[in-house]
Amino acid sequence: MAEPLKIDSHIHLYKTPEEGKAAKEGYQIWEYGQRAPVRFSRYSGTVEDALEAMKTAGVSRAVVVHLFSALGTREEAIARLPEGLGRDEKDRAIREIDASLPDRLKEFNRWGCDIVKDHPQLVSYITADAIALPGEEGVAHIRDMVENHGARGIKMHGAVQGFSMSDERMWPVYGACREMGLPIICHSGPDRGGAHYAEPRAFGRMLGEFPELKVVLAHMGGGTWHQAPEIAKTYPNAYFDCCEIIEWTGGTDAPTDQQLARLISDIGPERVMMGSDFPWYDLDHSVERVMELPILSQEEKEGILGANAVDILGL
Ligand SMILES: [Zn+2]
Repeated sequence: MAEPLKIDSHIHLYKTPEEGKAAKEGYQIWEYGQRAPVRFSRYSGTVEDALEAMKTAGVSRAVVVHLFSALGTREEAIARLPEGLGRDEKDRAIREIDASLPDRLKEFNRWGCDIVKDHPQLVSYITADAIALPGEEGVAHIRDMVENHGARGIKMHGAVQGFSMSDERMWPVYGACREMGLPIICHSGPDRGGAHYAEPRAFGRMLGEFPELKVVLAHMGGGTWHQAPEIAKTYPNAYFDCCEIIEWTGGTDAPTDQQLARLISDIGPERVMMGSDFPWYDLDHSVERVMELPILSQEEKEGILGANAVDILGL
């Protein structure tokens, strides 16, 4: 029997092993509650790491969801200001940081596209951000990245970027993505501050306002997975990837394997894609986890492993 097509719809890359390690250490995963030890990846997430992990898992393509947070970048830059600045000096320095955010985002996205250029098996999704580049400015940048740098989609993370997925500052960007047929992959899940920017329900207005826009709710809602079926039922343009949540099944706030399989079955397995969230988790283990799920048929699982990503993301 032929091996099924395997595509990883959700990986991250970092410039250096140190940067990857720092990203992994700095990102606390709390939303699934308590659980027996989770199997994390040993990789730090350089492009060489990703190519090796893909080969090991027999994954032929991977979507790299590059994430930049203007909010986080701003906070870090402010924290690094020298101590003892006067109030005026500090205000001026903060204004300079704010003014630099659009260029920092553009530079980051250019790096994200450059790094995959020599690797046709890697597909680049760039960050859109309502704080650094809202509205038409954001649209112009995305067009440039698609037309001249090979970007194939958009990535957002409301909980880290600090704005709701249905923030109207993003409407021009969403309209342009619809026009260009550009899918958007968004982190979905709760946040600690209680802003609810990235919970499945926060996608409602976005999905309703742009019914031709394909939006992927990564992690199937994560710790707020109970909201996913209602969103899927109301909005046919909502799609899902099962990364991270599939590694945390059995956690006190996570579904069991049985519940996750039922969730996928209820949403429609053809709307769900495999992801690894590499370098947090391993690609070969993500494949194993999909194949281990109960309820779903062999054919449904094989779709999740790769064929669905071809249809949904137009790969
Ligand atoms: Zn991710």
